[in-house]
Amino acid sequence: MTVYDIISLKRDRKELNRQQIEFMIDGLIEDQIPDYQVSAWLMAVYLNGMTDSEKWYLTQAMLHSGQVINLNEVDGIKVDKHSTGGVGDKTSIILAPVVAAAGVAVPMISGRALGHTGGTLDKLESIPGFRIDYSIEKYKKMVADVGACLIGQTKEIAPADKKLYALRDVTATIQSIPLISASIMSKKLAEGIDALVLDVKTGSGAFMQEYNQSVSLAKSLISIGEQAGKKTVAYITNMEQPLGNAIGNWLEIVECIEALQGKGPDDLMEISHTLSGTMIWMGHKAESIDHGIEISKEMIASGKAWEKFLDIVEKQQGSTDMVKNPYNYPAANHSLEIKSPGAGYIKSINALTLGLCSVELGAGRLKQEDSIDPEAGIFLHKKVGQSVARNEKIMTIYSQRSDDFENISKRLISAVVVQNTPPEPQKLIFEFLESSERN
Ligand code: URA
Repeated sequence: MTVYDIISLKRDRKELNRQQIEFMIDGLIEDQIPDYQVSAWLMAVYLNGMTDSEKWYLTQAMLHSGQVINLNEVDGIKVDKHSTGGVGDKTSIILAPVVAAAGVAVPMISGRALGHTGGTLDKLESIPGFRIDYSIEKYKKMVADVGACLIGQTKEIAPADKKLYALRDVTATIQSIPLISASIMSKKLAEGIDALVLDVKTGSGAFMQEYNQSVSLAKSLISIGEQAGKKTVAYITNMEQPLGNAIGNWLEIVECIEALQGKGPDDLMEISHTLSGTMIWMGHKAESIDHGIEISKEMIASGKAWEKFLDIVEKQQGSTDMVKNPYNYPAANHSLEIKSPGAGYIKSINALTLGLCSVELGAGRLKQEDSIDPEAGIFLHKKVGQSVARNEKIMTIYSQRSDDFENISKRLISAVVVQNTPPEPQKLIFEFLESSERN
């Protein structure tokens, strides 16, 4: 078997077997296959797709390129959530303490900001002192003792994904459902989970903007999860406008703090409770998803989720003083209010434009080596459906630099459509997908 043969087979739309896929991934990890051949193979996969068996072999090969964490010593069913990413999507930081407070362990290995979408790790790191670089041993202990631990991908977790992702990024092969599915699931299956809830976003601010593509991705992820013997379900949720009101790392942490204290915005709370309620149900602490949602609400109303959050912050060496007094956080050097050019009702707010502008304000990275400005971002005073007067503020932007404020504010104004009549209410959750009965 040669790499050349495997590339040719995929080019000619033939199905690869387990050995051929393992040969590619082993060769990649051991630096035996040059990048140009891996890239040619990736392009063949991008153009011709993969069957369910091929996706499964690829996921397994990527998963076993590193360590698979065993959490058997932690009692109960361990459940995580994965979101395909969006703008203002901060639900992980809310649901981890909620679900852990309800008695279901949440092992969570998260990512950084990717393109216009934010990353849980960057948000957590805006809490002074918060450590996301715990060893796997420390992570296991914390999942057992506290019920949740939120760390970043270590070099032991799916190292093949890191190499493949870097090549995909520069060879225009990111947007491939089989490659995305294997990438996501190899990392999730390495965490030590028993069950997984997926939040697959759709709309302007999502990774997959087309509805049908989002559903195909969800089905592909579920099929891999089920083949791995992990109960996997998915929601398709709306990412036309940002989720909640805050975009940017510390701004989003403040919104999470408010959410955990019972003061979160409606859209954010609906998605958060749905996801956490589903996790509580999958962890066998509720009889149905609706019952799980009730428990999730109770965890917030009783203050138990907030206590759990403080516990997580403390155990991960973050400043509990700062999360208890978030307005003591250093302010951004510059801020600017963006005013509505017209009166009426907000018809739409383009999440992609807001995500891109927030990156330029400093909330994300334009180049890999860029550092994040934790105070940078956008706060939305208005959301879709709300009425607005001419010159009323619709957003405030924050940054350490103001030299680009004029250009950014023009783009933000053009991202908001105001009309005379109230728009049709938008659905937040479109679909729930699962493939088999609860384990
Ligand atoms: N997120 C991932 O982890 N992998 C992809 O390929 C795309 C999004």
